[in-house]
Amino acid sequence: RAKQKSRGTISLYQPEMDQQIRDRRVLHQDLSNAIKNGELSLAFQPQGIARHSVAESDIIGFEALARWQHPVRGQVSPADFIPIAEESGLIVEMGEWILRQACREAASWPKPLQVAVNLSPAQFMHGDVVGLVHSILLETGLSPGRLELEITEGVLIEDFDRGLALLRRLKALGVRISMDDFGSGYSSLSYLQAFPFDKIKIDRAFIINLGRNPQSAAIVRAVIDLGHGLDMSIVAEGVETIDQLAFLAREGCDGVQGYLLGKPLPIGKYADLVGRAETMELALKTG
Ligand code: C2E
Ligand code: MG
Ligand code: MG
Ligand code: MG
Repeated sequence: RAKQKSRGTISLYQPEMDQQIRDRRVLHQDLSNAIKNGELSLAFQPQGIARHSVAESDIIGFEALARWQHPVRGQVSPADFIPIAEESGLIVEMGEWILRQACREAASWPKPLQVAVNLSPAQFMHGDVVGLVHSILLETGLSPGRLELEITEGVLIEDFDRGLALLRRLKALGVRISMDDFGSGYSSLSYLQAFPFDKIKIDRAFIINLGRNPQSAAIVRAVIDLGHGLDMSIVAEGVETIDQLAFLAREGCDGVQGYLLGKPLPIGKYADLVGRAETMELALKTG
């Protein structure tokens, strides 16, 4: 019976799975050409200080987010293509491109704002991430204090000792490390104690539910206190409303990121924030 049942299940699933596998294979082929075809780019999303209202002067940096403009499919989400890049090993080349691009861009801003770059698990645990960060900092001239690397908690589960050693060596370079999407995975409090994060980014899921359910508010409050007790700063992700911002400011959250401050966009859209507007005006007047 069991056999029959499993056979039935297989035949039900197979066409779909085949399609998925084919889909991934095709995407993988396309992705391997994406960098050299110039289809990858970075979007930048502002990060600000948590205050009761939003002012441009409260923007302290940007998170760089990868974008892939597929020639036929159009925009493919990083949530779809980063995992493919991870599994196939393409992430090494792609991650290097992303980091270099983000650092080069930030180094060109008139204002010395922060730039945050996401590191994927494979990049972090299997490549020479310390050597890479070091050489890109030298190459681009970006001051290490302006670079922040975001990793998700799952990354460190794989190999605790290696993870800790890497974090320490990265911090020795002068860059900051933040734990991304805190609360979304297998977060454990002992992680926060064991690893020297500079910042905790509270997952969007908790922010969405602020005001809707008292449990989320309690959790956000507790994470803010906990993080501060551990000398870490706290950033809330996915802040979309003034009410959420007001709550976070009132509770002493340090930073905010989300559509309320700005969506991830090509950096040209934020020229004024990085200090380029004046330069452009000057160029117009003199040229
Ligand atoms: P993440 O690092 O947690 O990035 C935040 C995601 O939340 C971004 O999605 C951003 O567009 C979205 N977001 C920001 N504010 C709001 C908001 O107010 N409301 C809503 N609904 N969404 C908001 P995105 O760009 O699609 O990226 C998804 C994930 O893909 C990222 O999550 C990150 O894990 C990964 N990713 C993106 N770019 C890179 C990259 O360059 N390297 C690596 N390794 N992963 C990346
Ligand atoms: Mg991130
Ligand atoms: Mg995040
Ligand atoms: Mg995320």
